[in-house]
Amino acid sequence: MDLYKEVAELIKTSNYTIAFTGAGISVESGIPPFRGSQGFWSKYDPEEFAHIESFLKNPAKVWKMLREMFEVVLKAKPNVSHKALAEMEKLGYLKTVITQNIDGLHQSAGNKNVIEFHGNCKWLLCLDCGRKEAVKKELIETLPYPVCPKCKSPLKPDVIFFGEPIPFEVRKKAKNEAKKCDVMLVIGTSGVVFPAAEIPYLAKLNNAKIVEINFEETPYTHSITDYFLRGKASEILSKIIFQFES
Ligand code: NAD
Ligand code: ZN
Repeated sequence: MDLYKEVAELIKTSNYTIAFTGAGISVESGIPPFRGSQGFWSKYDPEEFAHIESFLKNPAKVWKMLREMFEVVLKAKPNVSHKALAEMEKLGYLKTVITQNIDGLHQSAGNKNVIEFHGNCKWLLCLDCGRKEAVKKELIETLPYPVCPKCKSPLKPDVIFFGEPIPFEVRKKAKNEAKKCDVMLVIGTSGVVFPAAEIPYLAKLNNAKIVEINFEETPYTHSITDYFLRGKASEILSKIIFQFES
C-alpha cells in the first residue's frame, strides 16, 4: 500500500493521535530553526543567547537578539503544515498538539488543544515580582531592555530559556498525553533538546506508533520511529490530508 495511504489509515483508525512539533514546522513561515540554518542562529548561538545565565548577566545583550527574534516571530503566519494539523483536529483525527515552539502558530491556524512545552512569546515576565506584561511593539523596542513597571527589573519573554526548568504542570500534561496516545506524529524536531525530546520515547514505551516527518534522520529514526516520511512537512502533511479526503 502507498505509504501516505497507510499513515492516513493508521491515523483514521487510531483512538488517540497527537502531534509533537518542533522548530521545523515553522520554517516555512519564515522562522529559522535552531539547527541546520545559516542565518539568525549562526549570528546568535542559542546555547549562549537563549541561556538564562546570559540573560541574568547581561539582559541588554540578550534583548538585542530578542528584538530581532520578535520582529520575525510576530509577523509570521501559519503555513500549510499548521493548517493541516488544525484541519485534522477539526475532523476529529487529532486530539492534541504538544509543541516546542513559542510562536503561537498552531493556535493561529485554529488548533484548540495545544500544549506549549516552552511557553509562548505573547507575554513578558518579571523574574523579581512575577508581573506579566503583554508583548507590545513599544515595550519590545525599549532600550536597552524593557523593564517591569513596578520594580524596574528587566522583563524576560515568558518562554523557557536553556537552564530553566519546565513548569511541573506543563510537563505533567504533556507526559499524560504521550502516555495516552496510540499514534504520535513527530514533526520537524531534531529530538535533542531535553526534557522535551523525551516525549516521543514515552509514547513508544506505551506502544504508540511513531510517524516521523523530517528532512533528516534524528535520534528517533532508527530507535522508535515506525514510519519515517522524509521531506518538507507541508508537502507530507498535505499528502496525508489528501488521503482523508479521497
Ligand atoms: P531544531 O532547530 O533543533 O530542529 C529542527 C528540525 O526540523 C531539524 O531536524 C530539521 O531537519 C527539521 N526541519 C526543518 N525544516 C523542516 C521542514 N520544512 N519540514 C520538516 N522538517 C524540517 O528544532 P527543535 O527540535 O524544535 O529544537 C529547538 C528548540 O528551539 C525548541 O525547543 C524550540 O523551543 C526552539 N525554537 C522554536 C522556534 C519557534 O518557535 N518557531 C524556532 C527556533 C527554535
Ligand atoms: Zn517586577
